[in-house]
Amino acid sequence: MIEMYDVWKTYPNGAEALRGINVKIEKGEFVYVVGPSGAGKSTFIKLMYREEKPTKGTIFVNNFNVEMVKEKKIPLLRRQIGVVFQDFKLLPKLTAYENVAFALEVIETPRKKLKGRVQEVLEMVGLGDKLDALPNQLSGGEQQRVAIARALVNRPAVIIADEPTGNLDPDTSWEIMYLFDQINSRGTTVVMATHNKDIVNKMKRRVIAIENGQIVRDERRGVYGYED
Ligand code: ADP
Ligand code: ADP
Repeated sequence: MIEMYDVWKTYPNGAEALRGINVKIEKGEFVYVVGPSGAGKSTFIKLMYREEKPTKGTIFVNNFNVEMVKEKKIPLLRRQIGVVFQDFKLLPKLTAYENVAFALEVIETPRKKLKGRVQEVLEMVGLGDKLDALPNQLSGGEQQRVAIARALVNRPAVIIADEPTGNLDPDTSWEIMYLFDQINSRGTTVVMATHNKDIVNKMKRRVIAIENGQIVRDERRGVYGYED
């Protein structure tokens, strides 16, 4: 599903964000990526959906050789990867429905099918009654549910999330985490960078710890392992 071979990333300013990453994530896995701020977690995730290119090394996501993908084919790659961010990144002038539909329209789905699919996926995240709400009329947790619906609408093989509960209170964070768990139990691979110690410790999933641009720990039923 996701493979990295000797992946290095040095930013133009000289920051060495990743230094020799080797990792294999199988279809259907749920993986937490943990580590101190500045360790390279976001970079690790950005490489998977081609937001950044590695300085060196090879990356496969769902059989795409990510760093070799031509500009023209990037949308095709991104359709197989749903991405969820800490700050939701919803379009503020579009409703919940429109934010999700926008992600589908990009690939020319017939109008009728589009409507059914958008409604279905918003119902799935528990927002069937909020289709017409604008982002600023929704709570943080609801906005993140819209973002998750948008990430799911094209039925991606993998969902990648960068601190998806970073802006949410503890109860809401748990609700969002249960949603990811449910998505994973339907077969979607989930890779999530997080600082949420309680959640990581209770869920007992695979934990990959990154420090200083290197994987320092990779456990099958892991713990958070930091005090913050
Ligand atoms: P984390 O997500 O673990 O906090 P990041 O991947 O964001 O870590 O950052 C890893 C290192 O790369 C840090 O030293 C950071 O300052 C640097 N870095 C991240 N993004 C950029 C960028 N766009 N330009 C230059 N340096 C960057
Ligand atoms: P169909 O193409 O018939 O909708 P799917 O297997 O894609 O079949 O979806 C079956 C149901 O599961 C639908 O309600 C769909 O919205 C939902 N679903 C699809 N992908 C996911 C996912 N990754 N996580 C949770 N539910 C999903």
